[in-house]
Amino acid sequence: MEVTPNHTQTVAGWAAMNESGKVEPFIFKRRENGMDDVTIKVQYCGMCHTDLHFIQNDWGITMYPVVPGHEITGVVTKVGTNVLGFKVGDRVGVGCISASCLDCEHCRRSEENYCDKVTLTYNGIFWDGSVTYGGYSNMLVANKRFVVRIPDNLPLDAAAPLLCAGITVYSPMKQHGMLQSGGSLGVVGLGGLGHVAVKFGKAFGLRVTVISTSPAKEREARERLKADDFIVSTNQKQMQAMTRSLDYIIDTVSAKHSLGPILELLKVNGKLVLVAAPDQPVELPSFPLIFGKRTVSGSMTGGLKETQEMLDLCGEHNITCDIELVSTDEINEALARLARNDVRYRFVINIGGNAKL
Ligand SMILES: [Zn+2]
Ligand SMILES: [Zn+2]
Repeated sequence: MEVTPNHTQTVAGWAAMNESGKVEPFIFKRRENGMDDVTIKVQYCGMCHTDLHFIQNDWGITMYPVVPGHEITGVVTKVGTNVLGFKVGDRVGVGCISASCLDCEHCRRSEENYCDKVTLTYNGIFWDGSVTYGGYSNMLVANKRFVVRIPDNLPLDAAAPLLCAGITVYSPMKQHGMLQSGGSLGVVGLGGLGHVAVKFGKAFGLRVTVISTSPAKEREARERLKADDFIVSTNQKQMQAMTRSLDYIIDTVSAKHSLGPILELLKVNGKLVLVAAPDQPVELPSFPLIFGKRTVSGSMTGGLKETQEMLDLCGEHNITCDIELVSTDEINEALARLARNDVRYRFVINIGGNAKL
């Protein structure tokens, strides 16, 4: 492991050392808190599917050892002299991005997530050439631009997944005008992303239909998440009954599937957004697109300004994620369950080990 000169702070974390799919305790160094930096005592970190992909090197780009985690919440312990927006004791979060060029058209619009030089919070290369390490660790040094504030009324554990799962669905919902009451929204897949999309939809006054392969999820979707409708995507009768009924669809499914039957659910001029990343190309038949003048688009997380806006709205509407809190001794067990999609709906690691904050 190469050490950058000002990386003098010792941090305890959990890293995957190889493709075994497991993490182990790992001691490493972080940079000193610079003038524009905020040091954060990490309290909680959500476990995203992306973590698993990097741990297992599914995409062939993992730089071991990898310290995963990009749904990070904690408390500020130090701020640099140029930092005006945060002070010691503030409750803050860090999501998927830890740096970008700050100067391109995307950065100027606070779409840092689409910057050519975007640096991910882990397995990225920071400005000083060091490899970034994520939130499965007890301390983080972050540039102020990439830190957001967690509203006081949101618990830091259940808010953590908003930093990735939340912004991933919020950004396209806003972009495509879905946040206006009266519209009808379909959410394909009821997992980490899907359940937040349902909550946003209900909070903003949309009629929400959950579309799932699993009939067992109906009760939970209706009762716990207050979805208005639930249809099983393999039930042709149910699918046909919903033809041309939805204004928008958010597709959160990362398993291979065809968009054809789902597109038929959209009204004329309806919009479908893909936010998951199936390994295989998705099937996109032309007829439902053409005959319904429908649009298919994609979206990847969100910018920092938008992330703060989403968190503030979550504060106003009291939206958090439904989580299973695990201790640092249970990370590997949780990873194994995550690989089987056996989680309701997000694991969050209690890094701080304290009582709830
Ligand atoms: Zn994520
Ligand atoms: Zn840029």
